[in-house]
Amino acid sequence: MTDSNNKWEYAPSLEGTSHIQLKEKYDLFIDGKWIKPSNNRYFDTINPATEEKLAEIAWASEDDVDLAVMAARKAYKEVWSVMKASERAKYIFRIARLMQEHAKELALIETLDGGKPIRESRDIDVPLACNHFFYYAGWADKLQDAFPQRNIQSLGVAGQIIPWNFPLLMAAWKIAPALAAGNTVVLKPAESTSLTALKLAEIIQASGLPAGVVNIVTGNGDTGAAIVNHPDIDKIAFTGSTAVGKLIQKSVVGTSKRVSLELGGKSANIVLEDAPIDQAVEGIVNGIFFNQGHVCCAGSRLYVQESIADEVVRKLKQRMQSLYVGNPLDKNTDIGAINSKEQLGTIEKYINIGINEGADMYQLECEIPSKGFFCRPTIFTNVAQSSVIAQEEIFGPVLTIQTFRTIDEVIQKANNSPYGLAAGVWTDKGSRIFNLTSKLRAGVIWANTYNKFDPASPFGGYKESGFGREGGLHGLEAYLK
Ligand code: ADP
Repeated sequence: MTDSNNKWEYAPSLEGTSHIQLKEKYDLFIDGKWIKPSNNRYFDTINPATEEKLAEIAWASEDDVDLAVMAARKAYKEVWSVMKASERAKYIFRIARLMQEHAKELALIETLDGGKPIRESRDIDVPLACNHFFYYAGWADKLQDAFPQRNIQSLGVAGQIIPWNFPLLMAAWKIAPALAAGNTVVLKPAESTSLTALKLAEIIQASGLPAGVVNIVTGNGDTGAAIVNHPDIDKIAFTGSTAVGKLIQKSVVGTSKRVSLELGGKSANIVLEDAPIDQAVEGIVNGIFFNQGHVCCAGSRLYVQESIADEVVRKLKQRMQSLYVGNPLDKNTDIGAINSKEQLGTIEKYINIGINEGADMYQLECEIPSKGFFCRPTIFTNVAQSSVIAQEEIFGPVLTIQTFRTIDEVIQKANNSPYGLAAGVWTDKGSRIFNLTSKLRAGVIWANTYNKFDPASPFGGYKESGFGREGGLHGLEAYLK
């Protein structure tokens, strides 16, 4: 234990990587086969914790996207939409089982490619991704029971575009309900984190899923735009930034495409004076520092009732000093690498804005690795409601803290945001929970916990956080006429 911060120094406990094998080059997964990109262009994917190149990834052109959509349409018409639902369920179930068998490999690849701590990939991302496939496999042949008195019809071909913060989990959120509802898929992972989606493509190939039912095309925003603008796509499901979400919405105006958008957030985590304080401090830490703050529903705005503010901030600072930032492969690591140099730059820009706005900054005092993209967990007190750091999404381990006196005041402050994805409420009283949850304009509200996910519960936002729900029956409905 060092004297300065009461922190135990642990010997490194590194997860081995010798049993995973990455290809040097990954092609496009179209019509059940691996196909070279038509323009023969590839880009590098790197490990953000070491800046080392992991593999080369194919860059899909418009022609490649067209090929993928044609394969998906053919598979939809000839195979998937005419197959008995109970047979479709078996395939989805088989994918879930195979993912479980490859769980360790998937977790390692997620950590290498995305920078998140191995503990999170292993205990959260991968099991939840498997559970989404299991959950929707169960619904595939029970759609009529799920939606009685409706004529169940799938939509057709779904174009799905996902971000880099939960690469495998977002792929599961998108693919599993689409398949269960009888659709076929063209999915594009984010350019900095394509590897687990490509590993999933290998699993899907091994599962014997008919060719063309799932196609995975890699590339950048241009590839994403080619999916959005393709005339033979029936539904666009997008998770990512509000800026790109708005672009997508504009592109589909005047078409018959269905759209669901899960966008940014600036979620309020509210601690009332009767809250269990130690538990709340854990929830605050989990809410903002989990996954380096790369969580669209991160509890990035903390509101603490004035009478307990000093105690909460003191305990939070103490808890922050016991966090470990560093090698994501180390099982002791709490906070891994920021996903990219660009994102680290964005976070640092906001930290400087916070300082220049006159807020008081406090950071974890620790060494951070000299290579790779790392950021110390950071909190700001003395923040105004109107300040940029309290209004804009930072997407990093940066928390703003404000105080309040009355419940009405905190409801107003929490709702004073262009976003409305999630919120947290910490209190001892059920009646206060119900009062706040009915007045907060957020899609998901956690009470006395934060960042808890389950395939059966719907997730999605209000206002600029998007529309449409994923998860549960709501998520299935989004893929039905
Ligand atoms: P972030 O800021 O979190 O990286 P983005 O919204 O830029 O989020 O990216 C999320 C996903 O959207 C990625 O897969 C990215 O390649 C894709 N994308 C980026 N620009 C566009 C676009 N104009 N049309 C469709 N997809 C896009």
